[in-house]
Amino acid sequence: MNRRLTNLPCFRIALLFPILSVLCSVPPAAAANWTVRAQPTRLVNGGPVLFQVKPPDSLESLSGTWLGHQVSFSFDAASKTWFALAGVSLETAPGSYMLELTGETRAGKVSGTKISFSRKFAVGRAKYPKIAVKLSVEGKFTEPTPEQEKQIEEGQQVKKDYLNRVTPEREWSGKFTAPADAEISDVFGSQRIFNGKTSSPHLGLDFRVPSGTPVAAMNDGTVLLARPLYFEGNFVVVDHGQGLLTLYLHLSEFKVKEGDQVKRGQEIGLSGGTGRATGPHLHVAVRWQGTYLDPARLLSLRLP
Ligand SMILES: [Zn+2]
Repeated sequence: MNRRLTNLPCFRIALLFPILSVLCSVPPAAAANWTVRAQPTRLVNGGPVLFQVKPPDSLESLSGTWLGHQVSFSFDAASKTWFALAGVSLETAPGSYMLELTGETRAGKVSGTKISFSRKFAVGRAKYPKIAVKLSVEGKFTEPTPEQEKQIEEGQQVKKDYLNRVTPEREWSGKFTAPADAEISDVFGSQRIFNGKTSSPHLGLDFRVPSGTPVAAMNDGTVLLARPLYFEGNFVVVDHGQGLLTLYLHLSEFKVKEGDQVKRGQEIGLSGGTGRATGPHLHVAVRWQGTYLDPARLLSLRLP
């Protein structure tokens, strides 16, 4: 009924001013009260993203889908905003992608009613270094023996079992902080060559630290893995919830065990050169729902 009433004056305006009729023909936006923002404002492949949503009603829960992943939101009472960390895989082609949101209204209002909204976000292409790094690693990593082959397979199975896990509940809180106060020796996305063979892109961030340097958890979470693996060496993985994991490789010593709760800045191990490493350094990686994201971009986000 409202549309008929509002369309009537538009019809008259259209006769007089054809250009204005275009504006009048836009249907009333029923979802105009949703505010959906992303940080950073320019999304890129390999980058994390913080979605912040202000729905028109009080909600019991809010979830979404983004690039084929389920996204679960947390509520910040102070700003009345729902937020979630998500990401864009390195392989995602530039383009426009839809974030689809579904919320359930709070009991007392029109209890349990589902409301939804969607908004498109543009994803650009990030510039990652294409400089090939010539590194020489021990033959056991490029031409493994059958026994080493077995250890590699075991490591792959562990990673398959653990690294794609999604704990919907958020444990992270506030900004992610660097695991060590040290110079960066290799960035995310750079292409490497091992013994003349081109390897996959570097999926983490390297810190130039001598062996024995304390390594800190980048945010609050639960220790998902703390064990030695063939390539990773002594390996710690912290689950921060909302599908976000941080990985710490090549450690010389563990300071936590699987199942431990850790706080941001808490020592989780000492750096080293265990596993496939050309020398002592700290390799950290960030995974969101099975895809690697640029840790440096995560560190630069301002988070609630
Ligand atoms: Zn690395």
